[in-house]
Amino acid sequence: MPILLKPGREKSLLRRHPWIFSGAIQNVDEEPASGSTVDLLSFNKHFLARASYSPHSQIRARIWTFDDEPVDKEFFRKRIRSSLATRHSLLVPQHTDALRLIYAESDNLPGLIVDRYGDVLVLQSLTAGSEFWKETIADVLLEETGLKNIYERSDADVRELEGLPSIAGTLRGSSITQLPITEHNLKFNINLQSGHKTGFYLDQRANRQRVRELAKDRDVLDCFCYTGGFSVNALSGGAMSVLSVDSSADALELCKENAALNDLPTDRHTTLEGDVFHLLRKFRDEARSFDMIILDPPKFAPTSAQVDKAARAYKDINLLAFKLLRPGGILVTFSCSGGVDAALFQKIIAGSALDAGVDAQIVEHLSQAADHPVLLSFPEGTYLKGLVCVRG
Ligand code: SAH
Repeated sequence: MPILLKPGREKSLLRRHPWIFSGAIQNVDEEPASGSTVDLLSFNKHFLARASYSPHSQIRARIWTFDDEPVDKEFFRKRIRSSLATRHSLLVPQHTDALRLIYAESDNLPGLIVDRYGDVLVLQSLTAGSEFWKETIADVLLEETGLKNIYERSDADVRELEGLPSIAGTLRGSSITQLPITEHNLKFNINLQSGHKTGFYLDQRANRQRVRELAKDRDVLDCFCYTGGFSVNALSGGAMSVLSVDSSADALELCKENAALNDLPTDRHTTLEGDVFHLLRKFRDEARSFDMIILDPPKFAPTSAQVDKAARAYKDINLLAFKLLRPGGILVTFSCSGGVDAALFQKIIAGSALDAGVDAQIVEHLSQAADHPVLLSFPEGTYLKGLVCVRG
């Protein structure tokens, strides 16, 4: 079904951006079904792209292809093969059996996330289009990977904007919800049912490895530790001590389990349940200090609307962290807020050091792992920013 765009509104498509907002649409003859495939035409009726239709979302159409080709099972096979080939060429599967195979818009498959945990694929469908093709996509995934099990985690809040219900459970094969994965020779227990995102923060893989390299002989404070991705790596890297802080008792239990799973010196590991904002103040008042502090908080600003509040929160924890760092100590600080870009994040961290009264240098810029690529025509795919700072 053809959809005509308003005059001039073809520009973003000519730059190969994969979204069309409702305001760009001139007219729709007959409302297409949710998720069905539509042709986007310029005002003078030139074919621009083939897309999925989202009647409930402000992002009314998402591009499957800019070519005049059918969108069918073979189309998804071609796209999926290309994503799998990229991961292999990047050597990611050599380092881990848990990786992102398909990262939505960045892999030219809007709304579709597929992660692999051992022999289980976890599928997250976020849009009407990926939902429409879900069963076909599941078939192709099994055919192309040779795996048998798919667990579905289509329970992200953004589905509401698409008018889709929350769905979680086994989509194909047997019901496996818990399994160990191995990353850079370290094991982690993953719960596919209740774990954050699809089970684990796969995007931090390279940064966990970096923390492992830098942690030797240091007293490490891992804030917002979740199930211990950074803590386990710091211990494995020879940290003198690791204090893992999180507000979730369940996460801390898993953090301890993950340390034990790797035969790491658990006498050097302590977990502490609490609010990081409060605990950092308490540590300051007690004049405690550390050689390495990791700050990996949850998304404070999912969109630009919450930027000011988020900036204050980042400033607060980073300022306190700088105060708790011994001279020569390392701050590894992250923001996964889409609404806070890298330049703003660096400005916030600069302000934090200034107000903490310490000199610090950025020695490294960190980002999301290679299996979370960013399509150049879709910069919105960038979200994770990290800085490694050394206190003077
Ligand atoms: N660093 C982790 C991911 C962090 S996710 C990893 O690499 O795996 C964010 C974590 O912050 C969650 O575990 C959540 O329970 C915790 N959290 C959120 N707000 C918090 C707060 N105010 N104080 C302490 N922990 C908090």
